[in-house]
Amino acid sequence: MERNDLETLAARCEGPVLVPGQEGFDEERTGFNLAVRHRPEVIVGAARAEDVVAAVALAAAHDLPVAVQGTGHGFSVPAEGGLLVTTRRMTAVRVDPRARTAYVAAGARFAQVIPEAARHGLAPLNGSAPHVGVVSYTLGGGLALLGRSHGWAADRVLAMDVVTADGRLRHVTPDAEPDLYRALLGGRDNFGVVTGMEFGLVPVARLYGGGLFYDAERTPGLLEAYARWTATVPDEMNSSAALIPFPDDPQVPEPMRGRRVWHVRIAFTGPAEAGERVVEPLRQAGPRLLENLRDMPYERSADIHDDPPVPMPWAADDAFLADLDGDTARTLLEHTGPGAALPAVVELRHLGGALTRRPAHPNAVGHRDARFMLAVLVPLTGGSAADAHAFLRRLFEELEPRSVGRFLNFMGHGDAADRERTRTAYTADDHRRLTALKAVYDPRNTFRLNYNIPPGSGR
Ligand SMILES: Cc1cc2nc3c(=O)[nH]c(=O)nc-3n(C[C@H](O)[C@H](O)[C@H](O)COP(=O)(O)OP(=O)(O)OC[C@H]3O[C@@H](n4cnc5c(N)ncnc54)[C@H](O)[C@@H]3O)c2cc1C
Repeated sequence: MERNDLETLAARCEGPVLVPGQEGFDEERTGFNLAVRHRPEVIVGAARAEDVVAAVALAAAHDLPVAVQGTGHGFSVPAEGGLLVTTRRMTAVRVDPRARTAYVAAGARFAQVIPEAARHGLAPLNGSAPHVGVVSYTLGGGLALLGRSHGWAADRVLAMDVVTADGRLRHVTPDAEPDLYRALLGGRDNFGVVTGMEFGLVPVARLYGGGLFYDAERTPGLLEAYARWTATVPDEMNSSAALIPFPDDPQVPEPMRGRRVWHVRIAFTGPAEAGERVVEPLRQAGPRLLENLRDMPYERSADIHDDPPVPMPWAADDAFLADLDGDTARTLLEHTGPGAALPAVVELRHLGGALTRRPAHPNAVGHRDARFMLAVLVPLTGGSAADAHAFLRRLFEELEPRSVGRFLNFMGHGDAADRERTRTAYTADDHRRLTALKAVYDPRNTFRLNYNIPPGSGR
């Protein structure tokens, strides 16, 4: 790109246009996962939709690939050259209490939407961590804390504003642009840069929630007990079980310090007394190190998972499981339990309930019949990245026969992001449809720095 191209771009944009070496460039390309960073030829720090239009139009004119970064929680493929659009300045949030909807700009986080909606007794279908970006989370499907009660976040999307590869800003609704609507929700960043999104809220003001913590060494049967328990619970019960190797660090609460801990997370949308009764059998699974279940306002729901809000480096992968039988639990624990080669964080989210429903308007979020989502994260503080990726590859290869596919939002970067593995995030029909739509909306694959869907014939 020539200097005068950059000058023209800067004149069109309200946000900054940055090139390597310029002040602010490194900060702009740094996201939440510190393991990887984009190395683009130019960054557009978009402040409004028109900046995105100017950026994509210029990239298309020069045949440059375009990458997008919101908060950097979901890194897939790093840009080496090309143009990076960052959306951190686009943070508008509006809640319409009468229509029970919210509109968010591309860079908004759930931490902004949750309190705004709570003022009206409403809630978005956010995930475990409020610092995650709303738009990309939802484009990837959005596996919500209340998923079993209320379904996928993507299914509640009413409209999106998106800049497609031809540099056009389009207003996408199920009626106005059904193909693009269907492709974006699940196809994520393959079809354009979403500059804003409108979606439905749910009438949830309170929850019975929190966690039960078990010493993993003293409760070897916890995972199987959890799997048996999930088969008995109503759709109001949303839960997950996470195996967390806590460091021997004074900042970690004493009972967990230096221990491998099973953390069973609970978000029950019925009355607290009913929640108490449903949880009771889990207490028979073994002695608890700690328990903090309580009736809570939805605004406090981030306490349930208590995901650390500080950026760090990690590698990750995931698999949807048809079931969590004894063999699967054993394989998982052989790799990640006591004596594991690396300190991995393992999470199994119980699916089913409203997550199995078909959406009112078709989208590309797949594998709705799976019973569990397995996500494994290896922190890269200290250890080698190559070892972590090899560890994940070995584990997921072994689990492959039990997996029914993958979930974009927890897939990770490196090997986890290659095209063949990306294909498994979709049903065969959806993937065929997406490749055909990609050929229509992005024939040159301008949006290829992602879990890529290549343009194809649809066969
Ligand atoms: C601590 C933590 C907790 C999480 N909890 C959950 C959970 O409970 N449920 C769940 O489903 N997911 C969860 N996730 C995953 C998260 O939803 C995805 O990683 C999501 O992609 C993050 O979006 P982001 O904008 O924050 O990240 P980014 O890394 O900025 O974006 C991720 C990808 O989305 C694309 N993208 C970003 N903005 C746009 C846009 N405006 N238009 C088009 N494409 C865009 C980018 O190309 C990028 O590759 C969690 C992640 C973390 C780190």
